[in-house]
Amino acid sequence: MTEDKKAKNKKILGIKGLNDVLPEDAPVWELLENTAEAVLKSYGYQRIRTPIVEETALFARGLGAVTDIVEKEMYSFEDALNGDRLTLRPESTAGVVRAVVEHSLTYNGPKRLWYSGPMFRHERPQRGRYRQFHQIGAEALGFGGPDIDAELIMLCQRLWDDLGLQGVRLEINSIGNAEERNRHRADLIAWFEQNRDVLDADAQRRLYANPLRILDTKNPAMQEMVNAAPKLLDYLDRDSLAHFEGLKKILEYNRIPFTINPRLVRGMDYYNRTVFEWIGGKAGAMATLCGGGRYDPLFEMFGGRPTPSCGFALGVERLIELLKEQGGAGVAQYTDVFIAHQGEDAMLQAFALAEALRGTGLDVILHCAPAASGSSFKAQMKRADESGATFAILLGEDELKGGKASVKALRAPETENNQRLVPMEQVADYLIGQIIGAEDEHPCGCSGLCSGPSSHGIH
Ligand code: AMP
Repeated sequence: MTEDKKAKNKKILGIKGLNDVLPEDAPVWELLENTAEAVLKSYGYQRIRTPIVEETALFARGLGAVTDIVEKEMYSFEDALNGDRLTLRPESTAGVVRAVVEHSLTYNGPKRLWYSGPMFRHERPQRGRYRQFHQIGAEALGFGGPDIDAELIMLCQRLWDDLGLQGVRLEINSIGNAEERNRHRADLIAWFEQNRDVLDADAQRRLYANPLRILDTKNPAMQEMVNAAPKLLDYLDRDSLAHFEGLKKILEYNRIPFTINPRLVRGMDYYNRTVFEWIGGKAGAMATLCGGGRYDPLFEMFGGRPTPSCGFALGVERLIELLKEQGGAGVAQYTDVFIAHQGEDAMLQAFALAEALRGTGLDVILHCAPAASGSSFKAQMKRADESGATFAILLGEDELKGGKASVKALRAPETENNQRLVPMEQVADYLIGQIIGAEDEHPCGCSGLCSGPSSHGIH
């Protein structure tokens, strides 16, 4: 092969930090996406879809110039066709608020919205940290009280419960308003100046631009100094304190456990008052699964009317990992029935039977020849097994002679007589009867991850 041809035939690989989600993970992604959608709907949140690309200025203004995201993580580029400065969205709140202001969506009153989709941050790829990742988030726009903060937190709790997740814990804090933060900030800078010898390079750089973020440091050498720093909670005035107390009261009344973490500040500049994080995972590998808080000033920063608001975003990949750790993904079942056939007549009848079964709401995979020639029943049955189907239907010469189909229960114990001949016109009723019967017998309560028939309802 010539060098030129070799170069042409070289495999092109995906980009580092941008992952393929493979079909074997599809069931657990669907479980999370469908459960989240159902929970968000049940609280009255409506879906909004905003573009993946926005003007760079939107994020620079909204997120704050001295944040990790804006400083070093944004995928920004110039549109070669018209010179526009654009950015792949690193998060969705800025885009949602931009859209709400642009379309006056809160003109008639507050709005509860949610979104789901990919985000992009140029971070160093590692476990749980990717360059393209997915978030599902909610934004409650035009609500000023602590009640909506509590609602969003309780919505998350319901989602963890519905997913069957264990050991996810809640941390909350209040970071006050701009004036309270300014007073705290002056004292904080003075404190850091007194301890300048302990500050690492990142902290030195942020000392005057964003000292609050220094509290978030993971550097062990700075922990003692940071623990003793002035606490923002001590600077809150009456209204901010009342807001925080209001939130705690609702959570306590509803028995939602939380801890107050006075160092919780979160990454974006637009947050004020309530901030919260949900943390989970195996001991030693705990991660923030979901973060949120109040962002009362953001609408005005985007030219809108004052619109106090609160929201959260959860990291889909991190939740998927936890779901897999805690639930086990089981055999991926992606169909109810697999139809195997041999011979031209059988192939024609198999097509008609597959359509009839799909018409009753069953999911059906029809064997199609992998290459020009057909394949043996044995090879087809192997595919049927791999598909996770509950039943295989075999159509061969013998079956067709009697106007029947062989129906084999693939998930029944080997010892049982699990194959029987069923008249062709009765196949649908027979399968539905079997599946409904099995659901009654095996309420596995596995949150849909198991390979049993209960994960596939007849729609
Ligand atoms: P944030 O928008 O930074 O508040 O992040 C909200 C959630 O998104 C985090 O708690 C993570 O679960 C998830 N997340 C943020 N950045 C990444 C990333 N680079 N890779 C994977 N998940 C992420």
